[in-house]
Amino acid sequence: RPKNRLTSKAYIDGILEGDRVILSRAITIIESNLESDKALAKEIIQAILPVSGNSIRIGITGVPGVGKSTFIEAFGKYLITKGHKVAILSIDPSSQRSKGSILGDKTRMEELSNLENAYIRPSSSGETLGGVANKTAETMLLCEASGYDVILIETVGVGQSETAVHGMTDFFLLLMLSGAGDELQGIKKGIMEMADMVVINKADGDNIRNSELARLQYQNALHIFPQSESGWTPVVTKASSIKNTGIDTVWDEVLKYKKLVLENGYFEKNRNKQNIRWMYNNINDALKQLFYGSANIKQKLLDLENSVVSSEISPVKAAQTIMESFKKHLTNTTSK
Ligand code: GDP
Repeated sequence: RPKNRLTSKAYIDGILEGDRVILSRAITIIESNLESDKALAKEIIQAILPVSGNSIRIGITGVPGVGKSTFIEAFGKYLITKGHKVAILSIDPSSQRSKGSILGDKTRMEELSNLENAYIRPSSSGETLGGVANKTAETMLLCEASGYDVILIETVGVGQSETAVHGMTDFFLLLMLSGAGDELQGIKKGIMEMADMVVINKADGDNIRNSELARLQYQNALHIFPQSESGWTPVVTKASSIKNTGIDTVWDEVLKYKKLVLENGYFEKNRNKQNIRWMYNNINDALKQLFYGSANIKQKLLDLENSVVSSEISPVKAAQTIMESFKKHLTNTTSK
């Protein structure tokens, strides 16, 4: 055990007592790629699992500049006045690709971050989207075990990360802006389709009328999508995150949704489905790691690359060859 590590019991107790410093340190263990930390992380998660899950998990997305952090600051503060404990996590694939991140700068949500019942944790970095998503999902469990009953998972609406967030949340919120004519252009149709609620943000000042028009347009647009399995009809509202209007409506809708899906069984069904998918994601990651992490495979791949480039062997044949030798390698190691 490295010197700066606590015992697993100390992490577990700290999390359960709502100790934010220990929670943060435990999340760092979750994010770590050291083998010793991975074992510790598994132990912590296994121990807190029975007390996790007791929350509403809300995904929030929207293009950069739509007002996500301003909205979350207003929404988070509102929830805290209602007696909730709110954890804000983010999945920001941009921090993997380039060093700079779209979501991650530290000045965001300053007021909220000073409140005792808010916990803000930026995206982990240095990994694939799948890796970051898995770690965020584990972080979410830790936050729940620590008493956070509203989990907000934020992501930028510009890529694959929304699908990952949608896959780990109960309710998916899309923030939009009113725009001149091209209301539906800014965001992919697939993302619209995932939304349980669309909020037209910045509905203040001169923008109120346009926001109402945009709201109606989106409401109509959503009707063309097939009815979702949850039985919920997506709603479109408008809000101003700086004037604090329409924020309460968002929460009212979340509660209506929760009531509906608890009653019709979709809440549990969806979480079960998500857990199964999460298991397969982990298996896929482990398989890739097993394959690409092997020194033997690495060398063979380099050789095969050369053979493919010089047309000695076709790409398909090369893939077959390496998979055959991987299978042999597996049989040898398991029969030993
Ligand atoms: P993010 O990139 O989606 O996180 O967006 P930010 O929260 O950083 O907001 C981008 C800009 O829009 C900032 O200058 C905010 O002050 C502004 N903004 C956010 N919400 C509102 C709003 O409700 N009304 C107005 N007028 N401006 C807003």
